[in-house]
Amino acid sequence: ELSLSPEPEPDDLLVEASLRPKTLAEFVGQPRVREQLELVLEGARRRGTPPDHVLLSGPPGLGKTSLSMIIAAELGAQIRLTSGPALERPGDLAAMLSNLSPGDVLFIDEIHRIARPAEEMLYLAMEDFRVDIVVGKGPGATSIPLDIAPFTLVGATTRAGALTGPLRDRFGFTAHMEFYEPEDLEKVLRRAAKILGIDLRPDGAAEIAARSRGTPRIANRLLRRVRDYAEVRADGAVTRSVARAALAVYDVDELGLDRLDRAVLSALVRSFNGGPVGISTLAVAVGEEPSTVEEVCEPYLVRAGMLARTPRGRVATAAAWAHLGATPPPGSPA
Ligand code: ADP
Repeated sequence: ELSLSPEPEPDDLLVEASLRPKTLAEFVGQPRVREQLELVLEGARRRGTPPDHVLLSGPPGLGKTSLSMIIAAELGAQIRLTSGPALERPGDLAAMLSNLSPGDVLFIDEIHRIARPAEEMLYLAMEDFRVDIVVGKGPGATSIPLDIAPFTLVGATTRAGALTGPLRDRFGFTAHMEFYEPEDLEKVLRRAAKILGIDLRPDGAAEIAARSRGTPRIANRLLRRVRDYAEVRADGAVTRSVARAALAVYDVDELGLDRLDRAVLSALVRSFNGGPVGISTLAVAVGEEPSTVEEVCEPYLVRAGMLARTPRGRVATAAAWAHLGATPPPGSPA
């Protein structure tokens, strides 16, 4: 099956290095973020100092890692990459910080998952470019202050709300990444097709973009599956009809819903008359764990305006009934 998860799949990781945009100009979409970042970077360049620390927030697959690499490239700086979960012990972070060269960019992915002691070390590092190294244990322990090179922290998070106040306050600039419009996804696809040598036609790009859930990572993944189909069952050109036929094989529909998404909607509409129904009952009806329905299917169904979470349970919207070709009963919440 073809995963529509925005998290990277193993075969995404193989190609993503080659598909990442390298400069701000190459970075498609997100016009607000791009303009703001341009100013932040140009200001820092003119002053000859590292820019303020940058927080990138938004759902997976929208380009946060790519943007952090672009920030480093635009500054002509080196980038060091790590992640919140990897910084369990403060010693790990102290080692990274003390190895930085002046002007380096330190990228911490999933920064909301950083352990508390490492987070506290980060406060001082971000503010004063200093770390306190604790030597020894117990009552004899002493802390030795150590200067570190001025650097720029770029933090990425899918859950900005989960950051503690003190950490959030230390970022001078926060960029919120939005889901991409179909036209921007078409640009992402055209760029990827060029790099991968795929004959992508405009109508094929539009068809794939519409099914990509606003997410470049998913767009590029669908493109690769459609390419297989185009090469094996057609003449290699990715046209609208080839994209449709290919994505039918993988059960990805016109709105980018997969088999399970549709099963959830269909159960909601057909078995529970549009709801409201509790998440556990709904999950049993489709033979999945409640957490799978809640975390894998629902975010996109809610965003696509098909499903509403209400205090009394899940409810199908009018769009859901229409998508399934069904008519809501009179007086239903839809
Ligand atoms: P995140 O860190 O937010 O999960 P990534 O930066 O890893 O996202 O992006 C995933 C992939 O999607 C990248 O390798 C790249 O191929 C593509 N991508 C993301 N954003 C863009 C963009 N704005 N322009 C072009 N490609 C993009």
